Amino acid sequence: MKQLLQSLLPFIPYPYRGEFIPCNLCGSEDKTVISSKDRRWKPLKTVACTECGLMRTDPMPTEEELNRYYRDEYRFDYQLAGKRPPKFHLVRSMRDAKNRVTKLEDWLKPGARVLDVGCGTGEFLKLAKDRGCEVVGIEPGSSYAAFARSEYGIDVINSPWQDAELPQASFDVITCNQVVEHLRDPMAALAAMSDWLKPEGVAYISVPDMRPNSKPTFERFHFAHIYGFTPDTLHVAMARTGLIAAQPDELESTSTVFRKTDGDETITLPLQDQSRAEALSAGYPNDTIVRYFFGGRYFRDTAHRFHKWRRDTFCEKKTQTERQSHQHPEQPATLNTDARA
Ligand SMILES: [Zn+2]
Repeated sequence: MKQLLQSLLPFIPYPYRGEFIPCNLCGSEDKTVISSKDRRWKPLKTVACTECGLMRTDPMPTEEELNRYYRDEYRFDYQLAGKRPPKFHLVRSMRDAKNRVTKLEDWLKPGARVLDVGCGTGEFLKLAKDRGCEVVGIEPGSSYAAFARSEYGIDVINSPWQDAELPQASFDVITCNQVVEHLRDPMAALAAMSDWLKPEGVAYISVPDMRPNSKPTFERFHFAHIYGFTPDTLHVAMARTGLIAAQPDELESTSTVFRKTDGDETITLPLQDQSRAEALSAGYPNDTIVRYFFGGRYFRDTAHRFHKWRRDTFCEKKTQTERQSHQHPEQPATLNTDARA
C-alpha cells in the first residue's frame, strides 16, 4: 500500500532506484535532460541521447522495479481477473482496432498468419480472425490474456515477449500498438519481431509521437513510458532491424506499416544526428506546474479527460454504431486513440 501511494501522490518521487544505462539505439552514454517531472507532477527525469535523439527515463527502472510498478498500478485490474475490463477500455480498444484494420486492409487476407505483440484484451485479433486470418497474441497481463481467450477465443501466449517461443519467418502480419515505449529493451523486441516476420510480411508499429507539441512539458511524460520516440528515431530503429516504411510518405509518422528491406536498401536518415536532441531540448520548455494550475489549464484538461471517459463509458449511441461497423469490417474507423492511455 505504501508503494502504491508513493506511485500515485503528486510531488513524491517514485519508489525506485533504477540504473544508469547507455542508449538502447546507438549505445552512447551522452545525454541531455529534457524534463524533470511527469504528468502526475512527480519528479521523473527524462533525457535524450545526444547522439541519436532517442529519449529515455534516467535512471532506467530495473526489470524488477517495473514489474512492481505494473503490479501496484494494475492491482485493481488484477483483482478483477475473470470479470470484464471497464467498458471505456473496451470501447477505446475496439475503436483503435478498427483503425488498425483499415491501415492493414491489404494484408489481412483469409489464411494470413497474424501476431499482435501486447494484444491487451484482443480486439484487433478478434477483427483479424473475423476476416479469416490465423491469429496469435502475446500478452503479459493475465487478466487481459484471459479475457481475450474467453471472450474472442483467441490463442494468447500469456508471457513477456522474451518468453514467447515462436518460429522465425512465420507471420504475414505483426502488429505492436503502443507497447514498444514500455519495454526495457525496445531494440531487442523490434529485432525479434523482424525475425518472426516472413520475408514478404509487414509489421505495424505504433508508439506515441514525442515531438514537442502544445502540451506542457511534464504532461508528456509517464512512468510507464520508459522510452520516447520521434518519427526519426523510430524509423532509424526499425531500419537497424531490417525494416523500412512500406510507404515512403510514412517517414513522418510514428504509427507506420513496415516491410522487410530487400538487400542493400536502407533509409537516408543517419543513426547519429545531434540536431535531434537539440530540437527536443529547445522544444520542451521548462514549464512550471504553478502556472499550469493557476492559469486554468489544469481544469480545462481535467474536464476534457472526464468528457472522453464519460463518452466511452456511457455513450450508447456510439457503441451501437461501433457494433454495426463491427459486423461490417469494411466500414473504416476514423478515430485513433491510445487504448492504454
Ligand atoms: Zn543514442
